[in-house]
Amino acid sequence: MPQTQNIIGLVYDFDKTLSPNSMQEDTVLPYLGLDSAKFWAETDRLVAEDSYEAELAWMQLLLEKEEFRNLSNQDLQHMGLKLKYYAGVPEIFKQLEEVLDRPAYREYGVTIEHYIITSGLREILEGSNLRPYVKSIFGSEIAEDSQGKLGFPKRAISHTQKTQYLFRINKGYLDLQTDVNDHVPREDHRIPFQNMLYIGDGPTDVPCFAVMSQQEGHTLAVYDPADNNSFAKCMQLRKAKRVEEIAEANYQKGTHLWRLLEYVITEIADSIVQRRRDSQEASIIAAPGH
Ligand SMILES: [Mg+2]
Repeated sequence: MPQTQNIIGLVYDFDKTLSPNSMQEDTVLPYLGLDSAKFWAETDRLVAEDSYEAELAWMQLLLEKEEFRNLSNQDLQHMGLKLKYYAGVPEIFKQLEEVLDRPAYREYGVTIEHYIITSGLREILEGSNLRPYVKSIFGSEIAEDSQGKLGFPKRAISHTQKTQYLFRINKGYLDLQTDVNDHVPREDHRIPFQNMLYIGDGPTDVPCFAVMSQQEGHTLAVYDPADNNSFAKCMQLRKAKRVEEIAEANYQKGTHLWRLLEYVITEIADSIVQRRRDSQEASIIAAPGH
């Protein structure tokens, strides 16, 4: 069914994009008394020496711990309240919606939806302060056993697999039981890629940046102001034309990042209004009897 296509989709990576840390570092690692640097070094070792996929490597390291296996998904949700964010998160989600508070945008019902796609654990974000602002969260998951305890990886979302969820958001196939590979004509896409912006932090987001660019969507990379290496990585992405813009990860009103987001949203909203007006005019001209 043809869609009105008046939704703007803002899609965020989580680790080091909305938060200065990887989510495990604020939640399960301190709970288990594990040192972050050692944990990630051990993850890297499984990847390098045992050919593990990275997400299955850290899940395996967690599931080896009895204390972790005694947790439920609800326990992971409770840990979500311990997440740390960059300045301005989560206030920015509401503030960006206010950018659309103009008569022309209201007339055409232009709205924003926020999405998060993470390789980390979805349940942790489900219990976080971000949840009320976000339409859908896609992330790796661990199934519970018959006792309601964490048992086996149910879904591991690698950096490459994250791209699948961009197409789900684009087609409106948010239910994971739907087949994202179904062919859907462009006019039936719920959020066309031109109305979407993907925000990530570095090389792990390159597959998503690439899909967004190929599909004429928008891209933005953020860097951690406390980490020179992070800035250099973003600059490399920009120079290689992987991303349109880069900015310091400070989401407070009035910052460079805030202005960039406001600009992109306004640009997309204007194009939505223009397309709707053009199609109204075309239908008037094409009406029979004139
Ligand atoms: Mg990241």
